[in-house]
Amino acid sequence: MKKECEIVQDLLFGYSDGVISKSSTELVENHLKECENCKNKLEEIKKDSKKDNQEKEVDYLKKVKNKLKRRKKIIITVLSILFIIILFNVVLFINYNLTPSEVQVFLLDDITEEQKADIENTLRGFGKITYESKEETLNGIREKIGKNAYLLNGWDKDNPFKASYTVKVDREDIEKITLLVENLDGVYSVEFMHIGNPYELFIANILMNKS
Ligand SMILES: [Zn+2]
Repeated sequence: MKKECEIVQDLLFGYSDGVISKSSTELVENHLKECENCKNKLEEIKKDSKKDNQEKEVDYLKKVKNKLKRRKKIIITVLSILFIIILFNVVLFINYNLTPSEVQVFLLDDITEEQKADIENTLRGFGKITYESKEETLNGIREKIGKNAYLLNGWDKDNPFKASYTVKVDREDIEKITLLVENLDGVYSVEFMHIGNPYELFIANILMNKS
């Protein structure tokens, strides 16, 4: 290789990047006009740097794409969780609004038919009334405890349960009904389960299903 070629080829990278001095640039350009070999070298350098840049670009695009993919996954996950939470709440609220509250009026054992009629009349208009006698209550409990029902053998003679009226009412009527009924003759006690919001109802349902 000619000495000039050696010098020029040392300068070619800098020349290709445009970072060498004006006099060096002139030297290179003058040489390239005459030397096919160095001209080819310059072409190679240019091609290589172009390829480098393209690879860098592809890498960058890949990174951006992966980043977007990850971001998309996170957004989808967050939206799914939000959707489930919203759906859960909607179901809770619908269930809450469809569930009537119950007031149960327990009756004294020596209640008269007249007193019963009076209580029934007071409850009528608030909602559907069901009556359960002492015997029905006892048998209901027998059914609930299943194979342990023998524990209640002999309770028929001395049944400790009370007959009761149960009325399904709107939540806002509970207090009113209680006040109206609790001092009537023949009433032993008034009980109700007050559920203040859908979450309480949800928890109450879980607890009741467990026991
Ligand atoms: Zn040369």
